[in-house]
Amino acid sequence: MTSTVLITGAGIGIGRATAKAFGRAGAHVLVTDVLTAEGEAVAAEIVSGGGRASFHALDVRSTEMVDAIFAHAEATLGGVDTVVANAGIAHRVPIETMTDALWDHTLDIDLKGVLRVFRRAVPGMRARGAGTMVALSSIMGIAYGWDEHVHYSAAKAGVVGLVRAMAVELASQGIRVNGIAPGYIRTAQLLSEEHSLGAAGAEAAPAFIPMGRLGEPEDIADVILFLASEAARYVTGQVIAVDGGLLVGRY
Ligand code: NAP
Repeated sequence: MTSTVLITGAGIGIGRATAKAFGRAGAHVLVTDVLTAEGEAVAAEIVSGGGRASFHALDVRSTEMVDAIFAHAEATLGGVDTVVANAGIAHRVPIETMTDALWDHTLDIDLKGVLRVFRRAVPGMRARGAGTMVALSSIMGIAYGWDEHVHYSAAKAGVVGLVRAMAVELASQGIRVNGIAPGYIRTAQLLSEEHSLGAAGAEAAPAFIPMGRLGEPEDIADVILFLASEAARYVTGQVIAVDGGLLVGRY
């Protein structure tokens, strides 16, 4: 793979596994995150394994930072061929304490953050007549409602609409736009006691997941790699659940 991929939130979790998978596949990986030390470590791991990578601090709430990284990639690497909009937060907020500011904070990262990187990728991809984008939605965006996470659920459902609309708008120009809806994946986000399942919830979850286990970040990374690859050349506008059978098996 000779392409360049930019991944947001790539210092830990699903983003980290995705960066490493693209690195192994031979892509130049632009590892970006608000977590500088973690992101630098991921880029260093890829390079020490014989791959190509660089770390760039990126808060997806900043259009200016997004613009600067793409300008750098265009000047030094010939542009960005694949964008993975992975950065996300999932804060627990009971509805009676959901202020405008808390709502806006999550939507700004989980939905508008996707728009910012996808939008900036378009001119270069259009000029080259090729490109792929993959966004992280969630089972909470395509099927479930997550109590005390109304903003998160709304943002992740919004990602589905964004993916569909951009896919249609860009299909004729050789650009494919897809999404992933992960189930329960073993990451810091899921293991948070304050905001998600926590350790006890993670231990209990396999009992109602048909495959009998939590997902690992690599389970998601490999499907992202597939969607970005030529093997998925006729796939666009789709959001694929990667959940060990959770959605189809819970009745
Ligand atoms: P994670 O372990 O929390 O990693 C997310 C990364 O994004 C972290 O490095 C995080 O930094 C970073 N980030 C947060 N705000 C950012 C911002 N404004 N700009 C740039 N980076 C930012 O999460 P994950 O579990 O790997 O999840 C990755 C994606 O998959 C998310 O969009 C998540 O909603 C989605 N997802 C995850 C699961 C799951 O079970 N894990 C299920 C469904 C969907 P901080 O740590 O400082 O916040």
